[in-house]
Amino acid sequence: MGKYLFSNTPQNNPLTIPLTCNKLTYMKKTTTKKNNNVIPEKIGFTTSVPVEVLFAAGKVPVDLNNIFINAPHATDYIEQAELAGFPRNMCAWIKGIYTAAVNSDISEVIGVIQGDCSNAQALMEVLIEHGMNTYHFAYPYDRGESFIKLSIDKMMKHYGVGMKSVMEQKARLDRIRRKIRKVDKMTHVDNIVSSFENHYFQVSASDFNLDPDNFEDDIDIFLKSLPEREPFKEDIRLGYIGVPPIFTDLYDFLDSHGARVVYNEVQQQFSMPYNTKTIYEQYLKFSYPYDIFGRIKVIKAEIKKRRLDGVIHYVQSFCFRQIEDLIVRKALGVPMLLLEGDRPMRLDARTKLRLEVFLEMLGKR
Ligand code: SF4
Repeated sequence: MGKYLFSNTPQNNPLTIPLTCNKLTYMKKTTTKKNNNVIPEKIGFTTSVPVEVLFAAGKVPVDLNNIFINAPHATDYIEQAELAGFPRNMCAWIKGIYTAAVNSDISEVIGVIQGDCSNAQALMEVLIEHGMNTYHFAYPYDRGESFIKLSIDKMMKHYGVGMKSVMEQKARLDRIRRKIRKVDKMTHVDNIVSSFENHYFQVSASDFNLDPDNFEDDIDIFLKSLPEREPFKEDIRLGYIGVPPIFTDLYDFLDSHGARVVYNEVQQQFSMPYNTKTIYEQYLKFSYPYDIFGRIKVIKAEIKKRRLDGVIHYVQSFCFRQIEDLIVRKALGVPMLLLEGDRPMRLDARTKLRLEVFLEMLGKR
């Protein structure tokens, strides 16, 4: 699964820069502002890929998950996919990505066929049948250096770029990633960043909101506004692990019930929170596409570092990753709630009740 923004309702959105939540706004900006009549090709992708290669090739990387989830009527995307023949009992993200791809003006879709989603290969086959250009990217299950090198080198060859320009883009994007790391630190150390803001800035790093320069400006404005804030005084510090939520109001709900998410696992991984020298090292340290045991190691270290009271493990309906909960819940050593979501919607009454009970239990400890 890729990364996921949702359009927080304006009245709930704590950001000072609400337009940045709208990915479509960025798409328009990108194609009109920068290019003096030359519109760069957009390349869609199904989860984080080495975007340095795409930027080096002068393309605009587009995370298709965001196009889906930020659409004003995201559930229509699911309906369109089901009308095209996708089964009802299939993950909503796959259906949303399909519709985002076929409705868009992107030139090619990169499907991550190893290291992300068990459905990605079939999705790509459907897109090929639909007449779309596709490219397949694979992360090695064993985190082997020679395999990731092969994958990235092959991608560079496909897009006709050399290592020098890729490393120039890495330096540019790493500068922005360091700023996102500051936002994360100000979440769990200074306690002046909300659950949603932490989610938003990190999850946006998979495609830099289609325009790294604009996105960097937004982060700068946000960071500048922070010293004026009073620290949050929540009772419960939460971690959120698993793919980002399809619920549109989860973070607002938690913040308004005496809790705050000070760790968003996968979103943090999308922001590549490591100092790395090479592009290969960077995509080997990225824990999301590899085995659950590597992810657990990272999560456990963050639980300790961020002094978490409990963890929400979010899983998507019909996702193979639900099985991993069996392993995760034995390993973490803090109270954990398994939360399942299906379609883009506000929290339903049952889920709210489960969250309230979990928070109440944590509050009594
Ligand atoms: S099935 Fe799981 S991994 Fe695949 S897109 Fe859905 S949530 Fe992501």
